[in-house]
Order: sequence, then C-alpha cells, then structure tokens
Amino acid sequence: MKLFVLIIFCLSAYTVMAQRECLSQQYYEQELRANPALAKKLAELDAAARQLKETATSGTTGISSGTPVIVIPVVVHILYNSPSLNIGDAQVQSQIDVLNRDYRRLNTDTVSTPLVFRQRAADCYIEFKLAKVDPRGRATSGIVRKSTGIQFFGLDDRIKSSAVGGDDAWDADRYLNIWVGSLAGNLLGYSSVVGCTKDKDGVVIAYRAFGTSGTASAPYDKGRTVTHEIGHWLGLRHIWGDQYCGNDYIDDTPPQQTSSYGCPQGTITSCGNNPSGNMYMNYMDLTYDACTNLFTIGQREKMRSLFAEGAPRNALLYSDACTATPIEGPAEASLPEQENEDAVKVFPNPATKQVTISVNDQNLSGKYITLYNRMGQPVGKTLIAKNVSVFNVQHLPQGMYFARVEGQTKAYKVLKVAD
Ligand code: ZN
Ligand code: CA
Repeated sequence: MKLFVLIIFCLSAYTVMAQRECLSQQYYEQELRANPALAKKLAELDAAARQLKETATSGTTGISSGTPVIVIPVVVHILYNSPSLNIGDAQVQSQIDVLNRDYRRLNTDTVSTPLVFRQRAADCYIEFKLAKVDPRGRATSGIVRKSTGIQFFGLDDRIKSSAVGGDDAWDADRYLNIWVGSLAGNLLGYSSVVGCTKDKDGVVIAYRAFGTSGTASAPYDKGRTVTHEIGHWLGLRHIWGDQYCGNDYIDDTPPQQTSSYGCPQGTITSCGNNPSGNMYMNYMDLTYDACTNLFTIGQREKMRSLFAEGAPRNALLYSDACTATPIEGPAEASLPEQENEDAVKVFPNPATKQVTISVNDQNLSGKYITLYNRMGQPVGKTLIAKNVSVFNVQHLPQGMYFARVEGQTKAYKVLKVAD
C-alpha cells in the first residue's frame, strides 16, 4: 500500500515537473483584481473587436496578396544574475527567426499539422525585427543587457522595473518589450494584459525557453514559448478557454476540455469536438515546443484586429524603431539613469499643430527647451514660463522629434503627424 502511494506521488510529481507553465491567465486575473478599470476597458475592446468583425466583408479572411505585412519592432531586455545567463546575440536572433517562421507559416513542421486542420492554418502576415533605434533615437542592437541581484522573477512584474532589479519598458507604442530572465518554479512565461499601462506592456520569458540555442532547454528549446506568449500579447486566449470546455472566442478552433501536455498523438476528442478532435498542436495550447505548429485563420484575424485604427496595437504600425536613422550619441543602455522622469510631460503626442511641454519642477523655470529633429539639428527653442512651453510644429515635416531641457541629458520624443 505504501509503495502504491509512493508511486502515485512520484507520478504526479513527474507530471508537474514535465508540465509547461504559462501564467498569463493567472496574471490577467491578478491584474484585473488590482485594477477594475482595466476590466471595463477590456470589455470595450472586446465589443470594438466584435463590431469590426461584423462590419468586415463576410466570406473574406482579410488577407490577400496585397495585404501589408505588419512588422513589429522588438526590444529584448536580458536580466542575468550569473554570466552564463547573459545570453548571446545569436540566441536572441534564433528566437526572432522562430517568430518570423511561425507567424508567416514558414515553419518546417507544417507537415505535422493534421490534414483536418491544414485548411485553417494561417500565415498571419506578422513579422518581428530587433529595433535599430532606442527611445532616444540612438543606435541600438535591440538588446539590453543588465546584471541583476534578483535570483528569480515572478508575476509581480519586478522584471519590468529598473528601480527593483529589472529593466524599464521601452515605449510600448513603438516596441514590443520582451524580458528574459530566471523565472520562479516551472514558469516559462506570461504576457501583459491587452490595454494595460505602457510600463507593464510586453511578454516575460524564462531564459530556458528563449531561442533555440544556448540556455534554451528541451522540451522548450524551439522558441514556441515566445510564439505562444506573443499570441496572448496580441489578444489570444488559451485554446481551451481556461475552463472546462471553455471558450477562446475563436470560431475555427474546436472546443477542448482542458490544456494538453507533452506531445499527444492521433485524434483526441472532447467537448463534442469530433470528428476533428482537440487542436493540441495549436500554439495556444501547452504542448511541447516540437509538437505545436499552427495558428488558425480565426486567430490571425483576432491578432490583426488589434492593429486597426483606434485598437490597442495600432500605434506600432507607425513606429520608426526599425527604420529611423539613429542620431549621434551614446545608446540608451549606457546613459546614466534620470531622476524626476515624470517632471516633464509632452502633449498632445503625436501632435499636429502645437505641442505643449509641461515641466513640474521649479528648478527648471527660466531654462530653455530645445526641439531637435532626428538628425540632432535644433528646429525650435522656447523658454519655460509658468512651467509650460509651447512649440508650434505645424510647419515641421512629419516624423520624430526630441525635446531637451537645457542642462539635462534626457530627451523627450515628440511625434509630428499630418492633420
Ligand atoms: Zn499561455
Ligand atoms: Ca474556439
């Protein structure tokens, strides 16, 4: 009897060890409890997405040969507490390469998608590139490396804050932030909630589940954890809806009793989803990396809907983080950290006619603020009076500008757009 109990214990312990852990749903519930306003915002976003779907031409998938590919600029923040975890550029690039295969259905394992699901498998027309310019307009590799005293990060988002051993997010309207570090327990990753504040926006990934080389460790060494978490970041739910036979609100993914583990084979039916059975090879299940291989057309449409005008990821379409010519000067990572970050506010931003810069710091009254173009050339200069400066930008060409207070090193971006 004792032996039997011991065997059962070992078996269940083994199951826990072998199980992929994505805590995006737990994180989502934690954030909603802490911030009821976010729940309201999410309900509005869902309603807007449904509206968009209803107004879309029926019978089309929204993709044609002329559909532009969405290119998402990426910054990878590496937080390492031992030199071996300061992962190399090649490993970072291996992850970007996986994303570009998986989101374009150029992955080599499409043949493993069961015939019954192949018609639904989608090229999402989404690509990823490491950023070429940092938030201050300077040249960057798109990789920030930072030593940390933190042994393990968890769902508390410390990894996203320089003040507590992590690294601050780059502007989420211009970059997808990916934080890579040591995560507690079996946690492989989690995504922020769509619609959250910009300082939390992005995905967090365990170094053992990032890329296909170096610290990546089987069975999570094919980069699919990041494919999965970015799916959440683009509004996708787990395929089983995080409930018994739950709903992921995607029409062409079958209902499924619960998450899949390991590497299932053959047709497994649940929740009346025969004859097709569970789509356990979908990136939004929890199957091993080597055993997932598709997003569906429905998932693609959901993800791409987030880039529509007024939708939460629309601003990324206008990001110049991969295309801008860097201005001269040291990159973000090598500059000393600034205090009083919130002392200066720029609005509206983007601007069309005028931009107002408010300075909540008496010491700066009477100083000049200069506006520079991307080449670092001054295009305007005004005195801070009554804590406010106003620039007329109507005559300026569209694009990115930077405002800098006399005597300070920090620059504030100003995006000029057409009327
Ligand atoms: Zn997940
Ligand atoms: Ca479904």
